[in-house]
Amino acid sequence: MDSRWSDADAERAVERYTKQGVGLDLALRTYTTRLLGADPRLVIHGGGNTSVKTVMPTLTGERVEVLCVKGSGWDMASIEPQGLPAVRLDALRPLAELDALGDEEMVSAQRGALIDANAPNPSVETLLHAFLPHKYIDHTHANAVLALTDQPDAAALCREVYGETMALVPYVMPGFALAKRAMEVFREQPGVEGMVLLRHGIFSFGESAREAYERMIDKVTLAEQRIARAGRTTLAGVAMHRKRPKAFAPIRLPQRIAPAADVAPILRGLAAQPLGPGRYRRWVLAFRSSPQILEFVNGSELTRYAQQGTATPDHVIRTKRLPLITPPADADEMAGFEAGARAAMEAYQAAYHAYFTANNARQAVPKTELDPVPRVILVPGLGLFGLGATAAEAAVAADLAETNVEVIGAAEAVGTFTAISEAEAFDIEYWSLEQAKLGKGAAKALAGHIVVITGGGSGIGAACARAFRAAGADVCVADVDERAAEAVAAEVGGLAVTCDVTRHDSVEAAFAKIAERHGGIDIVVSNAGRAWQGRIGEVDERVLRDSFELNFWAHQTVAQAAVGVMSRQRTGGCLLFNVSKQAIDPGPNFGPYGLPKAATLALMRQYALDHGRDGIRAAAVNADRIRTGLLDEAMITTRARARGISPETYMSGNLLGLEVSAEDVAAAFVHLALSEKTTAATLTVDGGNIAASLR
Ligand code: ZN
Repeated sequence: MDSRWSDADAERAVERYTKQGVGLDLALRTYTTRLLGADPRLVIHGGGNTSVKTVMPTLTGERVEVLCVKGSGWDMASIEPQGLPAVRLDALRPLAELDALGDEEMVSAQRGALIDANAPNPSVETLLHAFLPHKYIDHTHANAVLALTDQPDAAALCREVYGETMALVPYVMPGFALAKRAMEVFREQPGVEGMVLLRHGIFSFGESAREAYERMIDKVTLAEQRIARAGRTTLAGVAMHRKRPKAFAPIRLPQRIAPAADVAPILRGLAAQPLGPGRYRRWVLAFRSSPQILEFVNGSELTRYAQQGTATPDHVIRTKRLPLITPPADADEMAGFEAGARAAMEAYQAAYHAYFTANNARQAVPKTELDPVPRVILVPGLGLFGLGATAAEAAVAADLAETNVEVIGAAEAVGTFTAISEAEAFDIEYWSLEQAKLGKGAAKALAGHIVVITGGGSGIGAACARAFRAAGADVCVADVDERAAEAVAAEVGGLAVTCDVTRHDSVEAAFAKIAERHGGIDIVVSNAGRAWQGRIGEVDERVLRDSFELNFWAHQTVAQAAVGVMSRQRTGGCLLFNVSKQAIDPGPNFGPYGLPKAATLALMRQYALDHGRDGIRAAAVNADRIRTGLLDEAMITTRARARGISPETYMSGNLLGLEVSAEDVAAAFVHLALSEKTTAATLTVDGGNIAASLR
């Protein structure tokens, strides 16, 4: 592993931060923290922490010694100086004299020592940084170091690699006890350059930011070299296998492995938790596969090395202690795969409950059981899935699972992967300070739901993308215009899918991509459409057929593909169609548009009728006079002129006298998605038009 230190970059960082009033020590601290955070082999997703001891003025001008230490919620890769809140060392150092300190008291003492009362909570490892004398301290969960510390004979291995240059600290849960233990170990070996925390990670010390950082790189490199001697090298985050450890000898796999797009909806359905009739807590999936992941999930000893626990305790809260392992996905025997995966899921959840019950029994204050759903699923022959309440959380779980694949792979090359005990993992998973790292507040109404919006790149579709995102759903923006889809997807943090809804293969490919990326589909807003005109007795048949292709047939293609995915999930679903006022109240010369829309209204009712027993609901919105590509400014002007009124009067020509917007229509779609007991319904959004009203 090479040092990424650059004098020029360091100078630039100092220059930039100095302009913000940040001192030199903290500026360099921020610079090297980012260097560490930029390498996923060292830390990912908020793991690790760093600190610097410096002097800062208080409001009254008194200069006090402070520790600037990473704040909770900040990621090292993107940290800013304000992500390293300053705490007064004179307030923290005396705590080292205590024999014990509760977690809540520790957090309170740390907050009480903040210079800025509005700063984020200092890291749970703050006292460890405070009790040690070094100016700069860096802490990571480097993969290569974990491969050495996650071993039955970790201490001997670390001695072999580091000699007396590093102190060894046995596993102690982070917090006050670890801070004291580390301080005691250091007092016995005051000359060390850092510490290895068994089954946890590594600390490096330095008098300068560069020294602490480069010591980290050196120590991690020594670990990498030890792993390479055992038969593996880790280069650029990818293990290059020179020699395959025996544990990874592959099992016999079925001849044809089902694709992730077929497997994911089955697993997603099995993970969904019933909340009541027809209601589920849903999970989003993130699929990963690579030669390294396949070697891992196909290994003959998978059930041993993958069932020890996580590479470092920090992961437990996002991945749970253990992944779920399913049978291989035999493409020729999917019913058998589903039955096997179901049995595995039931056994996993029963085991999780037993783990909670057994470990909760020894708690002074009983804990509240968390959900029993796995956050990582390993499928031999295929790869791994991360699970989360949102696509972003699922991706984090998948990233951490990949890190575990790398660490366990290297650990098995060196010896035998061994993690912290079940009881120790429980203490982390149910630790109040770790729980605080997870998202707070009530989940949004559509959290965990995956919605696909066709024609999502503009107009009503784009408004739907924003509205469903605001309701908590993960949004897939499908549009024939790739750049339009990407622009809206970027805005809502969603997935862009290029899709021509009039082509069967394009729709199939789009839905397969969504199932692979997110695990499935819960809601479809079948919105793509275009207005064709013509007097019905004279119109070219081609015009009518083209309109039917997009305004009717495409809706059927999209709905049918969605039902295919929903059927694998077995958790119902919702099909929403954009039909126009034209479907109910035809306008003159709009037959080519209104006729297929009328057929689509009937299509919606047929889906409601035929698939209600699968829990799949269907509904439509009939809107009128929305400023979009279908009704552009030129058309509005023409129509207004024909009636001898202004465009504004035309647009608000309804019972309420109010112009209707794309956002109003999007709100109606969200409302229908949330109306769990409503199907075969049409909701009118037109400001009031008696001829188009349904009842
Ligand atoms: Zn740590």
